[in-house]
Amino acid sequence: MCGIVAYIGDQQAFPIVLKGLKRLEYRGYDSAGIAVINDRQLNNYKQKGKVAELETFTENKDVEGTIGIGHTRWATHGPPNDINAHPHVSGDGEIALIHNGIIENYDTLKEGLLSRGHEFKSETDTEVLIHLIEDIKKNEEVTTAEAVRLALSNVIGAYAIVVMDQSNPDQLIAARKSSPLVVGIGKKGDYYLASDATPIVEYTNEVVYLDDEEIAIVDRNKGLRLYNIQNQEKTPYIQELELQLEELEKGGYEHFMLKEIHEQPRSIKDCFRGRLNVDKGWVGLGGIKDYEQQLANANRIIMVACGTSWHAALVGEYLFEDLTRTPVEVEYASEFRYRNPIIEEGDIVIAISQSGETADTLAALELAKSKGAIILGICNVVGSSISRITHAGSYTHAGPEIGVASTKAFTAQVTVLTLMALTIARKKGTLNESKFRRLITEMELIPDKVSRILESSAYIEKLSKNYKGARNALYLGRGNSFPVALEGALKLKEISYIHAEGYPAAEMKHGPIALIDEEMPVFVIATKGPSYEKVVSNIQEVKARKGKVVAIVTEGDEQVKNMADHVIEIPDTDEHLTPLLTTIPLQLVSYYIAVMRECNVDQPRNLAKSVTVE
Ligand code: GLU
Repeated sequence: MCGIVAYIGDQQAFPIVLKGLKRLEYRGYDSAGIAVINDRQLNNYKQKGKVAELETFTENKDVEGTIGIGHTRWATHGPPNDINAHPHVSGDGEIALIHNGIIENYDTLKEGLLSRGHEFKSETDTEVLIHLIEDIKKNEEVTTAEAVRLALSNVIGAYAIVVMDQSNPDQLIAARKSSPLVVGIGKKGDYYLASDATPIVEYTNEVVYLDDEEIAIVDRNKGLRLYNIQNQEKTPYIQELELQLEELEKGGYEHFMLKEIHEQPRSIKDCFRGRLNVDKGWVGLGGIKDYEQQLANANRIIMVACGTSWHAALVGEYLFEDLTRTPVEVEYASEFRYRNPIIEEGDIVIAISQSGETADTLAALELAKSKGAIILGICNVVGSSISRITHAGSYTHAGPEIGVASTKAFTAQVTVLTLMALTIARKKGTLNESKFRRLITEMELIPDKVSRILESSAYIEKLSKNYKGARNALYLGRGNSFPVALEGALKLKEISYIHAEGYPAAEMKHGPIALIDEEMPVFVIATKGPSYEKVVSNIQEVKARKGKVVAIVTEGDEQVKNMADHVIEIPDTDEHLTPLLTTIPLQLVSYYIAVMRECNVDQPRNLAKSVTVE
């Protein structure tokens, strides 16, 4: 997590870096800081809290300079406060550094540095790095860039860093390992560096994504030079950005989350555009074309993911097993990577991650790759680390997701998984023509159906009022609605701080039923399908204990309407596709409740979007 931005060129660096930090704030908002060099004088400003607080703090300060670095933090080591905020500076105050990641061996490095007389100000792991660079520079009499390279050779862990030295205000030094970093090549010989392309897109569409253990030296006179950690020069691979600036704005909505919820008719359509043709009865994903046969032959598919993406994977499990008859296992990436998992020939590992940078998911993929598995990715961010290390994959094309609580990325992931399952099913011959035709026809209708659900936003807002004071909430669903229940509960807890649990409806009587009383809202997904009658019985059980039931039902349902306190109707569709619809009202409920509780919807406490630390 953490967002890092840097600029070097003819313009004033401070406003560019500040604006960039605002764009990256979704990655962390514990503190913010910017350092600039003016006339060989380093000025460093940092503050606990949001970028806006840094902006106020720096109002009458000297922020002049055409080279600068900035950071917005998601604390891993040391609490969020002014001192732990980045940039961190060397003991002599001459070199400044920003860091995203974790220096795992910081303790050992710190001991050595303390014994050599270095004094530490913060509790961060990051500070050892700047002292180490200073130490090497002085003792080995090398340039700052060389000191950075040597220091990094001693580091275990993850980093994206940018360093600048007031004795050489013509140079920024950047490097990465496991945490992302991209260089934007400006039109006037200027350069932008950032954790992702969002702060860069308004200035240039020419970018270079750094690879692991690459060091970039950006110099006013010599331009961009790339080296590996062994000091061999490399040729930068310049790519064109596809991102549009408008995609990063709120577009009239009060919050990014609401905007992104409302974008879903379009994002789902963008996701299947060119991958589905109802007239020709065809479905295909270009990105995995070369692996279709292996997918069809796979003995087992393992999906690894975290958070919301893990819920999408669970929906994928239902789809794949039912449509393709291939066994699927869904794993938390963080668990998978640390337990010597069994990976056999013919297994395929699919990683799902919005950002494509999730540290645990990346590590799980690397492990699977090292054991000889074919690894595929489903990511939203083009050019992200996962998309680069996988053998093949499919982008979700949902557009940038800025709200920390994932919404449109989830439905896009489910869409890709559906297309993938359909592709494999056709290849394997496990799906007959009429069922296939029905599914793709229904898929094409999903965006309109999502729009219809969004039209009932005012009604959903009104009913949400009844539950804004809840302290706990339960979400129930069966079959492929169970992951939707998990996702609904996650959405509520992460943005409104109400404790919420998702359960398979039938499991309720094995524990959670004890919690039910007249205070407890129970959100039940009770759409028409094979387990409808069973879910109706579960609703009766909740009502018998005076619980409040909000049921998501298929349009026209009368039975549940007579039992539940509130119902939200969704258009009918094929049962395989209902998660794409039932998720929508649950996102809206969470959103409205969080707004009514005056929570910061786009930047919920303690969370960050792109989890680039373990
Ligand atoms: N480990 C650093 C800190 O706690 C950076 C955190 C991060 O990248 O999220 O300040």
